[in-house]
Amino acid sequence: MPTRRHIVSLTAAAAALAAAGGLVPGRGQNKAQDRPRAVATFSILGDLVANVGGERLQLATLVGANGDVHVYAPRPGDVRTIAAADVVFVNGLGLEGWLDRLIAAAATRAPIVVASRGVKPRSGGSGQDRPNSDPHAWQSVANAKIYVGNIRDGLIATDPSGEDVYRGNAAAYLAALDTLDGEIKAAIGSIPVARRKIITTHSSFGYFGDAYGIAFIAPEGLSTEAEPSPRAIAGLIDQIRREKIPAVFIENVADPRLLQRIAAETGASIGGTLYSDALSPPNGPAATYIDLMRTNVRELTALLS
Ligand SMILES: [Zn+2]
Repeated sequence: MPTRRHIVSLTAAAAALAAAGGLVPGRGQNKAQDRPRAVATFSILGDLVANVGGERLQLATLVGANGDVHVYAPRPGDVRTIAAADVVFVNGLGLEGWLDRLIAAAATRAPIVVASRGVKPRSGGSGQDRPNSDPHAWQSVANAKIYVGNIRDGLIATDPSGEDVYRGNAAAYLAALDTLDGEIKAAIGSIPVARRKIITTHSSFGYFGDAYGIAFIAPEGLSTEAEPSPRAIAGLIDQIRREKIPAVFIENVADPRLLQRIAAETGASIGGTLYSDALSPPNGPAATYIDLMRTNVRELTALLS
C-alpha cells in the first residue's frame, strides 16, 4: 500500500514545463539519468502522465500548448525523443495519424501505452460523413480516470521500483478528478435544458456532451483535417436559426473565422475560447487538464445560464 510520504505532488514549474513540451527537471535524489524517460504525444495527455509520474519521470510532450494534434508534422527531434524513451503514452482511437511512421522511424522498443484503452468509443458526431470513432475521450472526466489507470499501470510496468509512488500519485489525482466531475455536473445541471445546445468548430466535445448533457454541433468533423463544404455550412446556418441555437464557441486549436462568419449570419452570440485538444501555455487559463475542464465549464455557463 502507498504511504503518505510517497505521495509526491507535482510542482507548478514541472507542470508548466511538461505543458510546454520540455523535460521535467530532476529535483529529487534521483539523478536525471536514472529516471525513466516518458513521452506523451500531446499536452493534455502529458499533464495526466505528469500527475501520475511526478518528479520521478523525465517527461517529453510532442504536441505542445495550443497545438493541433490531428495535423501535427513530426520534427526530426521527435524521432530522437521517441528513440530514447523508456515508455510512450499515446491517446489512440485514431487521434495520432502521424504516430506509426514516427515510431517506425525511431525503431523504438519502448512499450506503447494506449491511454484510452478500455474507454467505450463513441462514433460519428455531427457535421462529418466518416463513421470513425471519436478520439476526444478525455473530454469526459470518467474517461480521463481510465487514462490515469492505464498510465499508472504503464509506469509500474516500466519502472516497478516506483510502484508506490505511482499508486500514491494516481490515487490522489483520481480523487481530484472525482471532485472535478462533481463540479461539472452541478454547473452544467444549472443551465436550462433548452439552452444546452452550442456550435463549435470541430466535433471535439461529443464525450463531454454525452457525459454532462449539452449538444455540440460542428461544421467540421472529428478531425480538423477536412474543411466543411459550403453546403454543410449553409445547412448549419439553417439549423442554428431553426433550433434557435444560442451561441457559437471558438476553440483554441481551430481557425476562428468560419465561426465568426456563422455567428454574424445567424445572430448567435460568440462565446469565449473552449480548450478542446490542447492545453493553454503555462500562463494561460488551461495550463492543466483540470484547469482546462474548469475553464470550458466557466465559459459555457457564463453564456448559457
Ligand atoms: Zn480534435
